[in-house]
Amino acid sequence: MFPLDNLENWHSGKGYWCGTSDVEWNDWKWQMRNRLNQKEQFEKYLKISESESEGLSLSSSKLLVSVTPHFFNLINPSDPDCPIRKQVIPTNKESVVLPYEDPDPVGEEGSMVVSGLVHRYPDRVLFLTTDRCGSYCRYCTRSRMVSNAQGYGFHPNFEKNLDYIRKHTEVRDVLLSGGDPLLLSDSKLSFLINELSNISHVEFIRLGSRLPVFLPQRVTDGLIDALRGHPNVWMSIHVNHPRECTIELKDACHKLVNSGIPLGNQSVLLNGINDNVDIMRSLIHRLLIMKVRPYYLYQCDLVPGSSHFRTPVHKGIEIIEGLRGTTTGYAIPQFVIDAPGGGGKIPINPNYVKEVQGKTWKLKNFENREFIYQSH
Ligand SMILES: *Cc1c(COP(=O)(O)O)cnc(C)c1O
Repeated sequence: MFPLDNLENWHSGKGYWCGTSDVEWNDWKWQMRNRLNQKEQFEKYLKISESESEGLSLSSSKLLVSVTPHFFNLINPSDPDCPIRKQVIPTNKESVVLPYEDPDPVGEEGSMVVSGLVHRYPDRVLFLTTDRCGSYCRYCTRSRMVSNAQGYGFHPNFEKNLDYIRKHTEVRDVLLSGGDPLLLSDSKLSFLINELSNISHVEFIRLGSRLPVFLPQRVTDGLIDALRGHPNVWMSIHVNHPRECTIELKDACHKLVNSGIPLGNQSVLLNGINDNVDIMRSLIHRLLIMKVRPYYLYQCDLVPGSSHFRTPVHKGIEIIEGLRGTTTGYAIPQFVIDAPGGGGKIPINPNYVKEVQGKTWKLKNFENREFIYQSH
């Protein structure tokens, strides 16, 4: 079981880079320049297994490897099963590809109305802004394009995308994602958000970013200035394990929230990483402390070479069932499967309805006790 939610347990600091100046360490561009991406760099600090060594060699043609010093410090070097390590250091299990896995696992290409703009739901669009990330999650839904290791050749044309949104008055919600939109410069981001805000039918803008987790240094005053003043900007971050909740992430989240940007979290259910009620409870408690509302828990997509990350679907239901009633309702995310073939996100829930007879609903509560509700 994960240790208690004691704030003093939250990892932080320069770790292996203690000789670096504070100015450099806190500079997000320094963090980007000093990411670990070569096998020798990992070997300098960790005992790399045979499987990892092979994974690191394979990655150049699948999905690049790159880990920020901040995130790398969170790896426990004496734990070969470290939940942080498994998210960003590849193994040879990535070469196992199952017949039902698909490079486009949630059918985005079929709803791509303009290059980089996915219009699947009636009122909202997914706007892919870049194919780069701070670090590369080995189970990435967009492995096919992100990091360009497979030669996807992603060239976003912001003007074309903006034009589509301007013409489609039904689009009231724009989700900026990628890759990671916070890798855009403050001025580029500011430009995009301003252009979107100027479209009268766009009433809601979201950023989907893992940079606060990989690179909390990115949450600069300049970024806050770019986002502040837009009453309709929200952000979804991506935290999977309580150990990712560092002092630095907490400070970054508070900075965002205090500037008027509501935060949600999207986790991916990952085998051997967070597929456990106690770990998940610890994570969502920490999220609440950081003023982040747990939003979605995703069943891991059918990405080629990701089978070692996937759990049976019932594991997700079991976790939600284990949380319901035993923790704050606000803390419980919605478990979803993003359907293959472009079906969108489908909620998967434990069943609390035992039986319906006419207008009589036989329900069970979190303790499995039965209750009757008489409907109209
Ligand atoms: C997830 C997603 C959205 C946003 O969905 P919400 O349920 O509103 O968070 C929009 N478009 C696409 C293509 C998506 O994958």
